[in-house]
Amino acid sequence: MEGIQRERPNLLGSYFLGLLIYSSLVFLGFAPNSSAQTEASVVQLMPKLFYFESAQDLQRYYERSIEDLEKRIKKLVEIPDGRNFLLELDRLFGFFGEKMASFHLAEVALADSKLREEASRLQLRAYVWWNKEVIGRIEIHRKLRHVEVDMDRLAPKERRLLDGLQSNFRHWHSADSDSEESKLLAQQSAINRIQLSQNIEIAENLFQRNINMAKATLIFAEEDLRGVPLEYIKDLKLKDGRYQIEAAEWWQFDLIMRSANSATTRRRTYRARESIAAQINDLLIPQILELRRRLALTSGVSNWATYQLEGLVFESPKELRNFLLRAEKRNRPKFIAEQTLIRKMKSKRMGRSNPEIYLYDVAYYLNEYVKDELAVDLVGLRDYLEFEHVLQVIFEQMETSFHLKIKRSQVKVWDQNVLAYDVYERESGTRKGRIYIDPFPRDGKDKWFFSLSLNDRFVDQDGRVHIPSNLIVANYPPASEGAPALLSMEDVETQLHELGHSLHQILTNIDYASLSGMNSQEDITETPSKFLEVWMRDTEFLSKLLVHHKTGERLEPEAINKVIEALRVGSAHRRQGQIAKSILDLELHEAENSTQSARQIEQKIYAKYFYPLDEKSFPLTSFSHLFGGYDSLFWIYELGSTLAERIENLFLSEAGSILDPAMSARYRERFLSQGGIQLSRDLIADLFEMNRNSCAKFFNKLGSHRITRDSP
Ligand SMILES: [Zn+2]
Repeated sequence: MEGIQRERPNLLGSYFLGLLIYSSLVFLGFAPNSSAQTEASVVQLMPKLFYFESAQDLQRYYERSIEDLEKRIKKLVEIPDGRNFLLELDRLFGFFGEKMASFHLAEVALADSKLREEASRLQLRAYVWWNKEVIGRIEIHRKLRHVEVDMDRLAPKERRLLDGLQSNFRHWHSADSDSEESKLLAQQSAINRIQLSQNIEIAENLFQRNINMAKATLIFAEEDLRGVPLEYIKDLKLKDGRYQIEAAEWWQFDLIMRSANSATTRRRTYRARESIAAQINDLLIPQILELRRRLALTSGVSNWATYQLEGLVFESPKELRNFLLRAEKRNRPKFIAEQTLIRKMKSKRMGRSNPEIYLYDVAYYLNEYVKDELAVDLVGLRDYLEFEHVLQVIFEQMETSFHLKIKRSQVKVWDQNVLAYDVYERESGTRKGRIYIDPFPRDGKDKWFFSLSLNDRFVDQDGRVHIPSNLIVANYPPASEGAPALLSMEDVETQLHELGHSLHQILTNIDYASLSGMNSQEDITETPSKFLEVWMRDTEFLSKLLVHHKTGERLEPEAINKVIEALRVGSAHRRQGQIAKSILDLELHEAENSTQSARQIEQKIYAKYFYPLDEKSFPLTSFSHLFGGYDSLFWIYELGSTLAERIENLFLSEAGSILDPAMSARYRERFLSQGGIQLSRDLIADLFEMNRNSCAKFFNKLGSHRITRDSP
């Protein structure tokens, strides 16, 4: 539904990570945890995560980290050009990522808001340092270019590594040549870029913080909340009998939007959430857009959209726009059909014909339709979705599908609710990685749902495998007085989505830090996550998933089928919203000297592709994705949905089930484990067994129709 947004994966080599600053409370000890173990003859290393107790701890950690990295850089630049230099440079990326992991974690985990701000500040400083000392450094860039001389001696994988690393450096050194004059120009250009990217980081950081720190607290009397199952919000009841709803908390917002009978209640809640940081972020948006445009200009590209698309499956804004318009055309009839359902339901409830539909009506009337016509109470299904049970069922399915063993780890964590799991190969017992899950809201914690790469897999100079770890930050409804934590169906889908990212990161077989796990090309980043969501459409999976938390009752197969049908209702709206946002994102970043403000562009796009916005609405200001993380790459969600459908169809046509272990093994081997070692196009071609030619056709038509058995 409207307003959904998910994770910002931490893509190493992207300098515009949304840096987040938080406020408030939990306690952590300073306790490095590390373990090295031998499995077969390969030594594995679980990199240390540091928890900080004071600003001095942070400062010391920062200094030690920089000192260590400086030593590595010093050794690196002494290596003569060639293969060893290439491999060592990649390892430097790996070590840098490991150092930064503790800062990422500090931002999520630290109780003290001042400490969190300090962690953010030092993290930003570290990125600036990295850009200056590594990416912006002409000496390293030159050596990297000279590796090409050795090209014949490089294995194909190493050539791809060279290409991937060069793409990190290329933009920073466009004027590089050997004459003194152009050397000076190159230096000037690098300094310019460092400053611009630093300013972008700071502005994005503020943008995110404004959203995360904001509150949108509403007080409702019981009669305002008719339709809302009050047992799910009993902990929000005030002494005077009214209810305090925090629209900034996703689960509270979602519950109101789906179930409150009163249009006034829904409208108030919707507007409160949407305008959460409107005034301040309204000022930041044009600044961020302008800084990005200028950064693109320093690379000789006229706009940010073009800059971001370099090397991806859609190579120009025009190609991308065509993909999005094809997808829109395909989805529109289903979107309109759902609008008809909504109008019919609203007309039935209101007793008047042809009523107007507003965005805050959508989730509610679709839910009413499902109740009336399919006799499914989606909101009430929470009673069948106790959090720990849900995790157990998902993990068991992951074990079966992907040949794994997942064990709870007793490693020290930062909050009593945080869970840690180690993932092993089922047959060999080799540890593949670690997943942390931080499931519930906490004061000052980021309010969204995302999967964060803490550290990437790579093999160091001593042949040790550094084991990757991934963190899922979520905000599910917490346990309440007398009841365990109960999820909604959408929460389960979100959990699958985030675990799709986790698997992408930790099931990787790639030994290079800059290409392993989630460090694929950005275009397919949202494909593994969208694919795991597909499990929600499988009867076998749902029949294991839905178990009443008190009675242990399970649903009959017929009821399960109805649930699946019910889950499809609204999917065209979700898709339409996703496409509209992608087009908006493209348009904002394609503009070279637009006379229209971001707000005007947003109103135009919403009116054309989704729903007209009222005068006060400005959803962009509360939507963190486009201004910190996925700027002008929001379309990768739509690509992810499209590719996930294709992969689903491949599973169904080859094996009859999306849970099939043999197909899952093929998917894992050819796609999931490959990171960025091949270009996305080649990964897709390999998965679907297409030749280069039919793969080109595949992308030219992508979005326009569903796959059939004979034409992948
Ligand atoms: Zn995602």
